[in-house]
Amino acid sequence: MKIICVGRNYAAHAKEMQAEIPQKPVIFMKPDTAVLKPGQDFYYPDFSKEIHYECEVFFRIGAEGKYISPKFVYRHIDGIGLGLDLTARDLQQQLKAQGLPWEIAKAFNGSALISEIYPLRNAGNKNEEGAFIDYKDIQNLHFELKVNGELRQRGYTGDWIFPLETLVAYISQFFTLKTGDLIFTGTPAGVGPIHIGDILEGYLQSKKMFTFRVM
Ligand code: ZN
Repeated sequence: MKIICVGRNYAAHAKEMQAEIPQKPVIFMKPDTAVLKPGQDFYYPDFSKEIHYECEVFFRIGAEGKYISPKFVYRHIDGIGLGLDLTARDLQQQLKAQGLPWEIAKAFNGSALISEIYPLRNAGNKNEEGAFIDYKDIQNLHFELKVNGELRQRGYTGDWIFPLETLVAYISQFFTLKTGDLIFTGTPAGVGPIHIGDILEGYLQSKKMFTFRVM
């Protein structure tokens, strides 16, 4: 599986990064080795002194497709979760300044922390057991990240610059989406550093989605 992420999908975050609002989605990827699942701890790597959290709603692909038309996107999505797109901001800034690709700053081991994945109601899956979100509501979701119990990020998916339909249609022109792939939808404002000893907790529609420790 692969993880496809979108950068700058919330205007307030683009602004805090002193970046322009994009005209087209800004896409990057993480390999499967980036995934960290519930119950695993994140080990702070030696190559960075400034790892940032970016809390993001993500979706799972339930049916393979390419050139997916926006109106059929729901058929290709079967699950939702909340994750962290960890970013080595110091490396990313250096690479950006030199006009170089950012992979090592974004796609390193353990850089994609993901919650359990819940089925979406009325989407591309037959088994809806445990679902608590309906596909039609995906652009009306509130989520939060707390660090050591303190609120750091509060997001609302209605603020997306590019909705999921647009993202999936765009991405699937370039990359065949396969069952199990994840699409991260970008982070709201409020990104900041993590430190060894931190406890990171994510909530989606008030439901506790994950707890990760930084070691
Ligand atoms: Zn991100």
